[in-house]
Amino acid sequence: MAAASPRRVTTGLVLRTADTKEADKILTVLTPDMGKIAVSAKGARSRRSRVSAACQLLAWSEMTLSESRGWQYLVEANTIALFDGVRQDLERLALASYFAELADAVTYEDLPAAEVLSLLLNALFALSEQGRPPALVKPAFELRLMALTGYAPQAEGCPRCGAAVPVEPALDIANGQVCCGGCAPDAVPLGEDALAALRYVLTCPAKRLYAFSLPPEALARLDRAAEDYVRFYLEREMGALDFYRSLQRPFEHT
Ligand SMILES: [Zn+2]
Repeated sequence: MAAASPRRVTTGLVLRTADTKEADKILTVLTPDMGKIAVSAKGARSRRSRVSAACQLLAWSEMTLSESRGWQYLVEANTIALFDGVRQDLERLALASYFAELADAVTYEDLPAAEVLSLLLNALFALSEQGRPPALVKPAFELRLMALTGYAPQAEGCPRCGAAVPVEPALDIANGQVCCGGCAPDAVPLGEDALAALRYVLTCPAKRLYAFSLPPEALARLDRAAEDYVRFYLEREMGALDFYRSLQRPFEHT
């Protein structure tokens, strides 16, 4: 029969941390095979802890877990990536924290989350190692995440008037479809350039997700459409998004 506390090794990315009594932490960890799990990390805040690096927000590690009475305890951890390029830049850190909140919102315990984890890791690499602009990574991540969770907008012809090519294309958020601006006056304007980018991020290979470019004005339209879309379907406010926005305001040129 199974031992009293079976051990299991998995890789995991820390989505959330909470300090508990003494020097302990409770981590919310996204894993490929076990979905999103809560992990108790004893002594993680102690200066002598060998697992403290792995217990930070957005740390990606190989974790050895021991299960006891329905709880996962962190026994050992080897960090794989800490994404220092994100940690050292407040704007990138705020955006990455928002991505972690989004991933938290769409994942569950015991439901494998390899695709969401992979999307999040690629975004962290793009922000940390590849220096991709946050303003470009954000809408691409948001739209791709919605597609992964089954909310991809329909982005072909206009379903209202039947036009094969939508005129002055816009995103009708509540109906999850691209249509002509004139057919849905409340839709968020995209324009042809942002529509092309929207189609690209919904269908491109995962590794090419951030390999596109758009002029700032078109990127701003894509960003607004993607953000409103996420907010509508996930129905929750993301604290880190407000923080990310507050960092941008002083530098806006519109
Ligand atoms: Zn139309």
